[in-house]
Amino acid sequence: MAQLPEFLKTECLVGGRWVSANSGDRLDVLDPATGDVLASVPRMGAADTRDAIDKAQIAHEEWSSRTAADRADVLHRWAAAMRADADDLARLMTLEQGKPFSESLVEIEYAASFFSWFAEEGRRLYGDIIPPHRPDARILVTRNSLGVVGGITPWNFPSAMVTRKAAPALAAGNCMVLKPAEATPLSALAIAALGERVGVPPGVFNVVTGGREEAPSIGKALIDSPVVRKIGFTGSTAVGKQLMRDCASDLTKVSLELGGNAAFIVFDDADIDAALEGVQICKFRNAGQTCIAANRILVQESIHDKFVEALCARAQEIKVGHGLEQDTGQGPLIDARGLEKVERLVSDATEKGARIHIGGRPHGAGGTFFEPTVMTGITPAMDISHEEVFGPVAAITSFKDERSAIGMANDTPYGLAGYFYSRDVGRIFRVADALNTGIVGVNTGLISTEVAPFGGVKESGIGREGSKYGIEDWTELKYICLAGLEAAA
Ligand code: ADP
Repeated sequence: MAQLPEFLKTECLVGGRWVSANSGDRLDVLDPATGDVLASVPRMGAADTRDAIDKAQIAHEEWSSRTAADRADVLHRWAAAMRADADDLARLMTLEQGKPFSESLVEIEYAASFFSWFAEEGRRLYGDIIPPHRPDARILVTRNSLGVVGGITPWNFPSAMVTRKAAPALAAGNCMVLKPAEATPLSALAIAALGERVGVPPGVFNVVTGGREEAPSIGKALIDSPVVRKIGFTGSTAVGKQLMRDCASDLTKVSLELGGNAAFIVFDDADIDAALEGVQICKFRNAGQTCIAANRILVQESIHDKFVEALCARAQEIKVGHGLEQDTGQGPLIDARGLEKVERLVSDATEKGARIHIGGRPHGAGGTFFEPTVMTGITPAMDISHEEVFGPVAAITSFKDERSAIGMANDTPYGLAGYFYSRDVGRIFRVADALNTGIVGVNTGLISTEVAPFGGVKESGIGREGSKYGIEDWTELKYICLAGLEAAA
């Protein structure tokens, strides 16, 4: 049995108590690399979720009345605790999610950074004083917490997606009920345990876990509750749209960070080595299971063959294995469903004429491991150019000129991230303007940071997370009209 951190609790945190589900049912959490059971967690349902909402509502009164500086102290302590236990948290993440340990460590720091950042942003939730519309009045605008909010998070970044929501929400004075992904609840529970250790008050941060079967009833309990005023969701576009439809019934706010179909464009004036480095990070990190992964790699005709050859050489070097083994560069896919999708997209592309240069099959390590893959000749007729691959498959197409590259890049209902490599300053501004995405990486494949706004346009979502903008969605403006201030007689 794998070693789990001693501070990890495998019950749900509700109102400051570690509890099991009313039903007593439990969900096994697996190591995707081996299929071994790591632990089990409660399969919470609607009634458990309502209980968590009640506890959060009670906690909100005290938490929201604290000074921002008080809340900041708690969040800073939480960040410090994550950093102090980074090795344990990263090992746990690798065990339940599969990503290489080195990547898990980076994610833990990224996750902690949201607590540090939003602790301070919470102190700067300034209001406004507006010149009044009549002489006897003053107009004040304040920013207030929403109350109880829900967070629903995915498995590909099991810690960072939790803190990217919880940190701004709590900094602004809200209390949260979090539902982590069924595949990776342990990282969320570990964060909750550290929160308890550093003095996050009971009910301020609650975690309800469940399987795929329970997710809709947990989601519905959150949305149907008149107390829950916002749902922050990261996940698939299909589920995001459903949640937004459901939220319409009582106008619960939503922020949605959904799927992407990022184009990664390499122009012939690019620094090719830098572009190769970028595509490797952007395509093979987390075995390609990121919503900002390079889904379609567009390479200008004149450098196409050279680029493909060099990318194959790099992909060949990636060591596939258990994320806790030394030098592992790529772990398994999350589950059989993920593997089936990648296999389907690769075989559809090859049937329609794409060429596999390396990889293309499940890896010899078995289970859900897939070979680092490089394919060329991708056309719009292939499913892989429309669907998020979520696997280590570099799907390459060549293009003629800047105009056609932009046309191809924007030919998708998604608009999360886009990337391009060029050293021409005019082109840099033109293409950055033209890409219809919420995020543009120019000469870099690594764009995630707590200081910048993360989010998409079109069907990739609504709202932004991180940065000074990322706290606004967790607040409501209040306009106070102070009248009757007549001049003294
Ligand atoms: P993926 O297919 O990558 O697992 P999902 O969108 O299905 O992405 O899952 C993202 C998160 O949304 C997970 O926490 C999952 O449990 C949750 N989820 C899935 N379906 C629903 C639903 N109907 N209502 C609420 N949450 C859901």
